[in-house]
Amino acid sequence: MATGRTTVTEAAVREALGKVRDEERGGDLVGLGMISGLTLRDGHVLFSIEVDPQRGPALEPLRQAAEKAVAAIPGVLSVTAVLTAHRGAGAAAPSAAAPRPAAPGGAQSRKLPIAGIGSIIAVASGKGGVGKSTTAVNLALGLAALGLKVGLLDADIYGPSMPRMTGITGKPNSPDGKSLDPKENYGLKVMSIGFLIDEETPMIWRGPMVQSALSQMLRDVNWGTLDVLVVDMPPGTGDAQLTMAQQVPLAGAVIVSTPQDIALLDARKGLNMFRKVDVPVLGIIENMSYFCCPNCGHRTDIFSHGGARTEAEKLGCDFLGEIPLDIAIRETSDSGHPIVVSAPDSPHAETYRGIAARVWAKLRSGAGPVAPRIVIE
Ligand code: ADP
Repeated sequence: MATGRTTVTEAAVREALGKVRDEERGGDLVGLGMISGLTLRDGHVLFSIEVDPQRGPALEPLRQAAEKAVAAIPGVLSVTAVLTAHRGAGAAAPSAAAPRPAAPGGAQSRKLPIAGIGSIIAVASGKGGVGKSTTAVNLALGLAALGLKVGLLDADIYGPSMPRMTGITGKPNSPDGKSLDPKENYGLKVMSIGFLIDEETPMIWRGPMVQSALSQMLRDVNWGTLDVLVVDMPPGTGDAQLTMAQQVPLAGAVIVSTPQDIALLDARKGLNMFRKVDVPVLGIIENMSYFCCPNCGHRTDIFSHGGARTEAEKLGCDFLGEIPLDIAIRETSDSGHPIVVSAPDSPHAETYRGIAARVWAKLRSGAGPVAPRIVIE
């Protein structure tokens, strides 16, 4: 990075966006109050443009114009603008709209915030093997690429994969014999039960042990100041997962799903689990969405991709993006060099960063799901 570069100010960004017009509404983005969640970090600029959901897809040119206007400001290194659906007065908080199933045991009371951590998000899946951990690590790195301080907590206590995926080995330090320092790589602070036990050791965790392990990894780890902590949840929607979703003060959850999984409704179970405990679902990511031939680049929709987008719409939650089935993603994540850091210029890295930007914009605006809807089954 160049030294002595110009510092980008919020005023300069607002001024640039004040020149971008939404012709249909007859005003500029700032004047119309459409900009929210503006974040500046070392020349990286991120903001969302709040729009009427009906106009969403037609506004891509406006989004691009906004990015271009900000990119032209001296000192700006990257710009990410995302469209978010405006939450009008009619879309009141979900709890006001309809009675919700009571959270078992009063979830809120146990959700004490963790000092220094801005938002905690869960990455979850209806079942194992859908690429949840791969998505979690690349999402975390995508958030870090936006200039955010990010932690990654591997709560997949039955099969921790973060030591392998982040390329971290060795035991964490304990400065005082009580708390643990997270391990670090690629700018991420990482904690995993895998750092504490040998990979060969069979793990027979009983329910209470799982719970105390998670709560220790959350609260007894010196995370320091984080904008976001990404929690890689254990797969599935059983009791252990439900308890975790309840215990952790989650700002939101991201559901990872494959096209087949969508068809089998496993993703729906994941979604309902979070809704049960009052955690907003930030959206669904379709993983292994289509196949990219490594030789010719030809794209094949093996599992009739696109199901997640339709399903997300049906379920009233956002679709965050689709990741192809690509050997490069498998090789990089399994060898400890996730694609967002090992091939930052690849289209896949860009997709992950785009998803990260959408997630961050939602966390910033506190919007939760774009169209909160209660499904009582
Ligand atoms: P989960 O956490 O859901 O069990 P993992 O993230 O461990 O799944 O992924 C399972 C396997 O699939 C891993 O070997 C991983 O590298 C691979 N994988 C995940 N996503 C993709 C993808 N989009 N393309 C190719 N391989 C993938």
